[in-house]
Amino acid sequence: MSGIKRRIIDAHLHLDDSIPGGAENAANDLDGQLAKAGIEAAVVLHLETQRWPIEEVSKALEAHKRLIGFANIHPFDPDALLKLRQAKDDLNFQGLKLHPRLQSFDISDDRVVELVREAGDLGLPVMMDAFPDGDWLMMGFDPLAFANLAKACPDTKIIFGHMGGHHCIDMMMLAKRIPNMHFDISFSLLYYLMGSTRENILYCCKSMGCQRVMFGSDHPGMIVGEALEKSLSIFSEADFSNTEMENVFFNNAAELLNW
Ligand SMILES: [Zn+2]
Repeated sequence: MSGIKRRIIDAHLHLDDSIPGGAENAANDLDGQLAKAGIEAAVVLHLETQRWPIEEVSKALEAHKRLIGFANIHPFDPDALLKLRQAKDDLNFQGLKLHPRLQSFDISDDRVVELVREAGDLGLPVMMDAFPDGDWLMMGFDPLAFANLAKACPDTKIIFGHMGGHHCIDMMMLAKRIPNMHFDISFSLLYYLMGSTRENILYCCKSMGCQRVMFGSDHPGMIVGEALEKSLSIFSEADFSNTEMENVFFNNAAELLNW
């Protein structure tokens, strides 16, 4: 299987802010790593917590055809709707990134629904972090809250990052009722080295017919080339068909991103 030349999209990663200098340096470094790994396109999730202004990130990404930016905006910002429109029209971002844990907001708040609906109206997909680490579990991580948000915004495609970690089966069962729920398997597939979670994630992919599920590396949390190699071999060893792997590693993301 390893000899097959695949088209790959990485649906979830970030610029590495441990790289000194401007966003341009980090974007150049990332683009080089993607080229080396044979990755055709990648969704770069801007984070408000990183040190570069959003305009600088936009400019750095625009220099590389393969880098597709999603803008991180706080839903409680009084100018959130305006900022989203500007991110699309003026800064060339192609999606919205929300991180309820890092940005400390409750996803059931009306302002979140309003911003996520606006994204759908603008034709922008939304990437929402859904990894249940200890902090988020203490904040009340709940798959039903994600489902309710997706239900309230039926015209917005929402990718739940990391597939809910060990809550992946709940997420998958909810997605079977809610067609605008999508997932990436970044970090989670490789994080849970032992135990049943990895098998559960693979089961969820199979159960969804390998639709609406996408590969991601979560670089720099995991090194992009290594994450790709390990993920491909896990899928091969689990006897996913060539078509199923094409869907997870390329087609599903390509469709969502109009690539
Ligand atoms: Zn991430």
